Order: sequence, then C-alpha cells, then structure tokens
Amino acid sequence: MRQVIIIGSGPAGYTAAIYAARANLTPLLIASSVEAGGELMNTTEVENFPGFPEGIMGPDLMARMEEQARKFGTEVLYDDVTALDLSGDIKKVTLGSGAVHEAEAVVFATGSAPRKIGIEGEQRLSGHGVSYCATCDGFFFREQQIAVVGGGDSAMEEATFLTKFASKVYVIHRRDELRASKIMQERALANDKIEFVWNSEIIDILGVDAVTGVVLRDTVDGSTRELALTGVFVAIGNDPRTHLVHGQLDLTSHGTVWVDGRSSRTSVPGVFAAGDVIDPTYRQAVTAAGSGTTAALDVEHFLAARGDAGAPERDASEIDGLTDADALTGAA
Ligand code: NAP
Repeated sequence: MRQVIIIGSGPAGYTAAIYAARANLTPLLIASSVEAGGELMNTTEVENFPGFPEGIMGPDLMARMEEQARKFGTEVLYDDVTALDLSGDIKKVTLGSGAVHEAEAVVFATGSAPRKIGIEGEQRLSGHGVSYCATCDGFFFREQQIAVVGGGDSAMEEATFLTKFASKVYVIHRRDELRASKIMQERALANDKIEFVWNSEIIDILGVDAVTGVVLRDTVDGSTRELALTGVFVAIGNDPRTHLVHGQLDLTSHGTVWVDGRSSRTSVPGVFAAGDVIDPTYRQAVTAAGSGTTAALDVEHFLAARGDAGAPERDASEIDGLTDADALTGAA
C-alpha cells in the first residue's frame, strides 16, 4: 500500500508529487493514458510561468515538471483511473489496466476542461487559431481581427483583454442579452475595439492550416453568413472533471470539489484536491501549482497525525444541494 496516490498530471498533480516525493512519501502519480500533462499540452508557448523569461512550450514545461517529480522518487503511471473507492481508511484506485492500487491518502487533481462548441473545424484548428485561453494565446494575434464566443463573464474578460493585441474583437453570442455581470458588460460595451454579433452561433470554422473565418447562423431567422477572422477564442464555460468522485466528495455550486477554506481537505478524510478541479476562478498553471503544494503539505500533516484527522467543518452555503437546515441537523 502507498502512502499517497496523486490523480492528475497537470501543474497541480506534478507539484504535489514533487513536494510529496521530497517528503519521502514515494507517491504514485496516475497521469492518464491520453491526456497526460493536462491542459498545458494543448498550449503553445507559455510566457507567464515564472522562471522562463524566454517562454517555454506547454508540453516542454510539463515534461520538466514530470522529470522533477521523478527525480525525487515519484512513480508515474500512464493509465486512466476508472473507479475510486474513497470510503474507509484505505483508498482504492482502479486503473484501466484492471490494477487496483491502495493508499492512505489521495490527491485528486484532475483539472477542468473548457467547454467545446462541438463543431467541425474546432478540434482540427485547435492551436492554429482556435484557442480556449486568451491570457495564453492573445499575444499571437497582434493587429488581427478575431472573435470571442460566449456571453458570460469569461467572454467579456477575454474580449476586453484581447483588445490589447487585436485590431478588432467580435463577441459572438447566441442571444441578444449577455449573461455577464453588469460591470463586465459595461466595460466590454464601452470598448471601441469590440463589436457584438448578437443572436449568432458559429456553425463552422474555416481554414486549412489556420483559421480564416467562421460561418455564422442567425439564431432568430436562421440565415447564414461568413465572417473573415484569424482567431476564435471559445469562452463558453469550463467544466471541472469530477465524474470520478460524484457521490463520494461534496461539490460546490460551481461544480468544483469542495475544500475546507484555503486547504485542500475535501469532505472525506484522507482525500485532498488541488488545481482547477477546486478552482472556478483563476485556472492558471501557477495557481494550480501552488494548490498542488498545499495538497502535498496537507497530506504530510494528515499522515503524521493519522488517527486524529476528522472530517473538516463545512460552510453549508458553499455546498451544492445542502440546505441550512441540513447543516444544522448535521445532514450530508
Ligand atoms: P457562464 O457564466 O456559464 O457563461 C457561458 C456563456 O457561454 C453564456 O453566455 C452562454 O450562453 C454561452 N454558451 C454556453 N454554451 C454555449 C454554446 N454551446 N454555444 C454558444 N454559447 C454558449 O461561464 P463563464 O463566463 O465561464 O463564467 C463562469 C463563472 O465564472 C461565472 O460564475 C462567472 O461569473 C465567473 N467568472 C468571473 C469573472 C470575474 O469576475 N472576473 C471572470 C470570469 C468568470 P447563454 O447566456 O445563452 O446561456
């Protein structure tokens, strides 16, 4: 049996592994068979990770994190977790190979996935004009005409940010009313470089090696038209990857795994969570790495105090589906 198993191989998972390995916990890290390395594997140049003033390619950064984690004794398995049993003192992690690994503690760092539009061209041109991260890729669209898809805070934030680089930013929204908060709306609406394309959805993304335009459908009258542009930023929400822990860990109203305050402690003793799977707000490689550090330190404390660790106290208002009355009666 292991002391700790870390599930996830993004910045949160690998940073947790580096800390846990240096604390002689000989962690096992499950890196996934096809998505090892997490979201940064889909990114080109990372220019905002401290320590790399010349920038570093996303996959290279992840390879270096893995190397650093292995150097201190982390064992990495490229396999998918198919089932988790988090009840009881011994946690059971079942892999696609059929192997079952046991541990005293688990760090759950499965990240989040940007919601996809789900149309032809989106996947094919991802990284070639289609992006899910303005802070990562906006810089590459200097003096170009680009679009942001969505009508929420993320879309407003990304569109406003992208006007630093682009000559024009279209915001393509499927309705004629924004979901975004008033202040974010006002900021975007007042920006001369932003043009709103209302009641429109993208039904095709054009281009062979790079984006050259999109086909729009009017959601009111069904008419279609083409719009020439070189970049499409999809900002229609993110979904934390929590399917493995549904029914086992408490989630928040955002759908993220609930943790106790600024710690990584989940609602189940011995289970810790880190990175995008607990973060509906920041979702940066650096913040995920910091969160992984917190998880490894919490694991260390948990193992040191084994036997004393109880379920943390919870703020009922943060837990999805839990009423104040439930909390008062100790339910959930
Ligand atoms: P969101 O609030 O769920 O908004 C998603 C937007 O994308 C909506 O306008 C939605 O349209 C649209 N959309 C969803 N699926 C679509 C599809 N398949 N095709 C086209 N459009 C689609 O997501 P978010 O903007 O990422 O925000 C998530 C949370 O983070 C919110 O609570 C938000 O307030 C918060 N946030 C805060 C800040 C900030 O305060 N600085 C920044 C970013 C995010 P409809 O409106 O028609 O449903």
